[in-house]
Amino acid sequence: MNLSEKDQLYHWHPYTQHKTTCLLPAIVRGEGALLWDENGKEYIDAIASWWVNPYGHSNQFIADAIYAQLTTLEHVLFGGFTNKPAVLLSEQLMKILPSNQKKIFFSDNGSTAVEVALKAALQYFYNKGEKRTTVIAFEDAFHGDTFGAMASSGITFFTEAFQGSLIDVIRIPVPTEGNESKSKEALHQAIQSNACAAFIFEPLVQGAAGMVMYAPEILNELLTICKENQVFTIADEVMTGFGKTGKTFACDYLKQQPDMMCLSKALTGGTIPMAITTFTAAIFDGFYDDDTNKALFHGHTFTANPTGCAAALASLQLLQSESIQANMKRVHQSHMDFQSKIKSHPKVKTTRVLGVIFALEIITENQESYYGTMRNKLYNFFIENGIILRPVGNIVYILPPYIISQNQLEKVYQVVENALEIV
Ligand SMILES: *Cc1c(COP(=O)(O)O)cnc(C)c1O
Repeated sequence: MNLSEKDQLYHWHPYTQHKTTCLLPAIVRGEGALLWDENGKEYIDAIASWWVNPYGHSNQFIADAIYAQLTTLEHVLFGGFTNKPAVLLSEQLMKILPSNQKKIFFSDNGSTAVEVALKAALQYFYNKGEKRTTVIAFEDAFHGDTFGAMASSGITFFTEAFQGSLIDVIRIPVPTEGNESKSKEALHQAIQSNACAAFIFEPLVQGAAGMVMYAPEILNELLTICKENQVFTIADEVMTGFGKTGKTFACDYLKQQPDMMCLSKALTGGTIPMAITTFTAAIFDGFYDDDTNKALFHGHTFTANPTGCAAALASLQLLQSESIQANMKRVHQSHMDFQSKIKSHPKVKTTRVLGVIFALEIITENQESYYGTMRNKLYNFFIENGIILRPVGNIVYILPPYIISQNQLEKVYQVVENALEIV
């Protein structure tokens, strides 16, 4: 049996209906934007392996930092102890996070980063003896797959089976162009008729919904409404963080600052699972008390894992390097050029670009479902052509590693253009 066959024997894959899924390619090597499977077939990773890998696969600089840390101190518990890479990482993050973010809580993945933020919001009010248990979130949001994160996610087939077991969430429309006042109205309404603790949102881009974008101006307005009503704002930057939108964080486009931020994907350059939730001093102070019971009783075994922190430190250094910054600008400019070229194609409904994110919507007569026929046809076409892209319904998006070469990027565009002919 080869690896793919053994995989089928042993594994249960994420978001996968195994009855209708064939053997999956077994990736054995990666370098830069390229991956190779066990048969030697080459793929361009045009979605940076679910948005985690800006600096390329098997990056030597990050690998060296990980090796040095592994052979100095691989792990030590964060309960009762601290460690050097964690301290150095937080020190670096404080320089680039919104200036009101003062405390850093470590966990393992995007969902747990969201979970920590939601729990902190709810317990903050509980500690004050105030009953506020409702959370506000956008329609079609994606915040992860654990229960709190799932409750705040709005993509229904992800969460349908668990309705009734979830925290109270009120959903408001996404303020895409033309829907700004509807969204604002709904936020006012939600706050007036409920005891709301927090508003969680993906700033400027909803990744899993298909790179749905909205403007910073309206997000500023929504955040202002929340501030006026003492509703905490949680910026879920798990996807947008570390340069995807063209700035370090999507929140850097805003005048208002969020009360909490969730970070994970790309934090360690796609090497070691790690996540961070950041807080204002005011939120931290809501737990700071002589009473032990007012502490945040949340933690994960691998909290602030030194090796993960060392990988994150190296990644941050790369992000801030001239060469990566230049690559980000190049990818953005290429996306803009491709957009100009493709937007008038008869099969294209809309296109959008922000930072290194490109998306186009294909014209269809049917309401295309998330994992529907068109999506599968496109996905298979891309894989056959050696390009890893995961369309969402009729939306094709590109979010490549920043270091993707110009030739590789042009090939991705060409295959996307060819794909329009098969749907
Ligand atoms: C991927 C994602 C999550 C969940 O992160 P996991 O590491 O998959 O748990 C949460 N929020 C956003 C915006 C994401 O893109």
